[in-house]
Amino acid sequence: MNIHEYQAKAILREFGAPVAVGVPVLKAEEAAAAAKQLPGPVYVVKAQIHAGGRGKGHFKEAAAGEKGGVRIAKSIEEAETFAKQMLGNTLVTVQTGEAGKQVNRLYIEDGAAIDKEFYLSLLIDRATSRVSFVVSTEGGMSIEDVAHETPEKIVTFAVDPATGIMPHHGRHVADALKLTGDLAKQAGKLTEQLYTAFVEKDMELLEINPLIVTKDGKLRCLDAKCAFDDNALYRHPEVVALRDITEEDEKEIEASKYELAYIALDGDIGCMVNGAGLAMATMDIIKLYGAFPANFLDVGGGASKEKVTAAFKIITADPKVKGILVNIFGGIMKCDVIAEGVIAAVKEVGLQVPLVVRLEGTNVDLGKKIIDGSGLNVIAAENLDDAAQKIVAAVKVAA
Ligand code: ADP
Ligand code: MG
Repeated sequence: MNIHEYQAKAILREFGAPVAVGVPVLKAEEAAAAAKQLPGPVYVVKAQIHAGGRGKGHFKEAAAGEKGGVRIAKSIEEAETFAKQMLGNTLVTVQTGEAGKQVNRLYIEDGAAIDKEFYLSLLIDRATSRVSFVVSTEGGMSIEDVAHETPEKIVTFAVDPATGIMPHHGRHVADALKLTGDLAKQAGKLTEQLYTAFVEKDMELLEINPLIVTKDGKLRCLDAKCAFDDNALYRHPEVVALRDITEEDEKEIEASKYELAYIALDGDIGCMVNGAGLAMATMDIIKLYGAFPANFLDVGGGASKEKVTAAFKIITADPKVKGILVNIFGGIMKCDVIAEGVIAAVKEVGLQVPLVVRLEGTNVDLGKKIIDGSGLNVIAAENLDDAAQKIVAAVKVAA
């Protein structure tokens, strides 16, 4: 689960990390009052969307001006003008895709006098099963570009969970950022605060880009991106309360109601699969035969007919989907339940695209019989390889 920058900063503040004072704003009329609470004379008006690259983004609407989603205002009036221009309009950044995202919230923050911009993030390194730091003197820009062009400028290290965060980790961060004296001390403290926040809140990613040194020699987290481990959310009702579903994919929200593991992707072949491993393999093989999956979907082990119906409906409702591949290996999941779910969904919403079904395992004969007897225009497949080739071919013919 993702949250907004201002919410992430509130969490960082709880753990003592240095962030600027700021006020979230939902309506343009609140902007002036919000800015008045800040020290001034510079106010930064920041669009709150679940995507980065806001500073370099642009608005779709001419009324919002050509400029991006992070604007420096030199007066309270200007902050108000920016707020009016941004709210309700659509911001396009490298991370939103062409469609962009509507800006429904702003954060008005104290302007910082920036001396240097760094990059610092914490994430789970799956290879070592540890929380890892990624640190670079090249902040403010896309870390992917830095990794590509000057990988030697990125320092990474992992923290041993048995010892937890230690003073030497802080020194490592300070060295990587070439900080000495009091700033090195501040870096040590910040390293500990960020690690503690990360672990206590069960985060998956905490990215500070940029972490800055102000002209008066203070470290400050100027941007904050924070993602939480969904499997640990039950431990954090205070985090769940921060969820902003207007930022989430509608299909993913619908899927979460049925506890389906679903992630929307950009391709055109909808996949209904059971088991995460088989779902990954199915996506891979679709790519191998030259097409792209429209989603990851694991209907799970003991899915009911209702759950399968819901899953199939979510796939067919996606206008990007030009063909559907149902790939089920019945273990706990029964092939006949899948067949009934698919047929129930097609009865409700119709079927406009080619459908390839590959069933194997528990109750496979019954499942095939149900599909054959349904009168549905289904392309049957014998195995995973056959299924992938058939759906890719069918979509190419239809296109
Ligand atoms: P994004 O990463 O989405 O573009 P950031 O919060 O990183 O958004 O802001 C982009 C840039 O705007 C920063 O690199 C920084 O130069 C500037 N900026 C952001 N917040 C402030 C602030 N409070 N004071 C001064 N400059 C800021
Ligand atoms: Mg940033």
